[in-house]
Amino acid sequence: MTLLQVRDLVKHYHAGGMFRASAPPVRAVDGVSFDVGRAETLALVGESGCGKSSVGRTIIRLQEPTSGSATFEGTDLFALDRTALRKMRRRMQIIFQDPYSSLNPRMTIGAAVAEGIEIHRLARGKDVGRRVAGLLEEVGLDPGYARRYPHEFSGGQRQRIGIARALAVEPTFIVCDEPVSALDVSVQAQVLNLLADLQRERGLAYLFIAHDLAVVRQIARRIAVMYLGRIVEEGPAEQLLAEPSHPYTVALLSAVPEPDPGARRARIVLSGDLPSPSNPPPGCPFHTRCFHPLRSERCRQELPLLRPVGGTNAACHYAESTPSPEALAAN
Ligand code: SF4
Repeated sequence: MTLLQVRDLVKHYHAGGMFRASAPPVRAVDGVSFDVGRAETLALVGESGCGKSSVGRTIIRLQEPTSGSATFEGTDLFALDRTALRKMRRRMQIIFQDPYSSLNPRMTIGAAVAEGIEIHRLARGKDVGRRVAGLLEEVGLDPGYARRYPHEFSGGQRQRIGIARALAVEPTFIVCDEPVSALDVSVQAQVLNLLADLQRERGLAYLFIAHDLAVVRQIARRIAVMYLGRIVEEGPAEQLLAEPSHPYTVALLSAVPEPDPGARRARIVLSGDLPSPSNPPPGCPFHTRCFHPLRSERCRQELPLLRPVGGTNAACHYAESTPSPEALAAN
């Protein structure tokens, strides 16, 4: 059952100051649509600057959309006034890459976790402390840590504190904005396991934002790959990882370490940088870096739309004949 429905989401940023009128807008998000089901994880993956974090922040109204719609349990999120938005924030939370920046260094972590409980009046008096202790335990921290300050914790522990803060208001949906990108691999796995356990126990839905397909492989049921503000491929995680249809997904996948040491897979290093989102290339936005053998003049002129190819949807004119990393390694 659909929990969140996003349609044609657009987020453009305009330069400030005296050049505001003449400078082209930064097209961070350029017509993104997807659904997230109850207790489901949709991963949004792409290079830094592709617009994935802007999608997450716009949906929960940390920034305002340029156009498009987002409906959560049938409520139009972009039509909510301040009071209604505050109430809705109980249901929709966000976890950041750097939880330290969202924690007040002068506030104990007990007080930080209690904040949401008190704002939304979910408990009173001694019950607040009991709830905080329970939440710290649930995320794998000693309840006695409630009296400590953020600087006394490691990166992984701080992320657990960030998760406890989000859980404190009993949400049904959490935007996880690169929650493990700054952590060591072993700590990453622990935090991902924690998120998966919480999802099972609480029926949570996640929009999991990451730049690394290796990370989302562990947690996502569906994956959407973003490039220059657009989704270029999306589908069930298993299918997309086994048989990607868009050349950009193939390139991202080629960077993921292969668990089978005998398997041969070409590492595709894309040429050039991500083009500027204020001046995206015409036609297919990926054409300046594409390695597809059939890439043609059509790619430079005609924008490919998402369409079913194999078991996913891909935005490539020649998706049916996209070479796999294994095929590229054999050549
Ligand atoms: S449409 Fe053309 S340029 Fe774009 S991904 Fe497909 S082959 Fe490459």
